[in-house]
Amino acid sequence: MNYLFASLATLIGLLIGSFLNCLIWRLYKNETITGRSYCPKCLKMISWYDNIPLFSFAFLGGRCRHCRKKISWQYPSVEFLTALLFMLVFLKNSASPDFSILLARDWLIVSSLMIIFIYDLRWQLVPMLVVWPVTGIIFLLNLLLGVSLYSIILFGVIGAAFFLIQYIVTRKKGLGEGDIWLGLLLGVTFPTAGELALSLCLAYFLGAIIGVFLLTSHKKEWKSKMALGPFLAFGAIITLIYGQKIISWYLGLF
Ligand SMILES: [Zn+2]
Repeated sequence: MNYLFASLATLIGLLIGSFLNCLIWRLYKNETITGRSYCPKCLKMISWYDNIPLFSFAFLGGRCRHCRKKISWQYPSVEFLTALLFMLVFLKNSASPDFSILLARDWLIVSSLMIIFIYDLRWQLVPMLVVWPVTGIIFLLNLLLGVSLYSIILFGVIGAAFFLIQYIVTRKKGLGEGDIWLGLLLGVTFPTAGELALSLCLAYFLGAIIGVFLLTSHKKEWKSKMALGPFLAFGAIITLIYGQKIISWYLGLF
């Protein structure tokens, strides 16, 4: 029975992933989310049969039916990853007594992190229209799950302060204001010292690896900026799904 529900979770993730792609583009273009999808290159409307997650991209060979220009790899990647993460989060929570609230919270976190990842990677901007409401909703859901108000506020402030200090010390050169709000979101999402620290460590660890790789391949200069959002989103997703396991393993070392 669990397999059936896990497949359903994957299917929902696939559809949500498709919706997220649309949302990312419309947030950037400042458009409403109603109205039909169109090709960003030739602006022709996309029929429903050309808008089926993963399958249409494969069937059309990754090109628009009308103008034959390439469709970005972002589209199938976001659809595939959202489907995978929705399934993993479902399996992680399936035995919990608070299953429905946990699933709603974690699916919301996965979706918003996916938007932040792509948006900041493409345009070096943190989409505040996503970060602010999501922070509020996760705050409420964590209260519903029995997390103390004190912990949520404390770790929210710690998360924000972590980036605010860097923002002041580097005189706004190292990171942007959006990263401070992302810090608040992370703290509210992970209101424990272990999980918040883990998500930040994973982000900086991956950032360091990618940074060294880009420097040695001469793709980036020392001075050039790298957006922090994609790394923070990566660290948060790993923490969301495997955080408890990694922390138990780490504590077991001592
Ligand atoms: Zn086109």
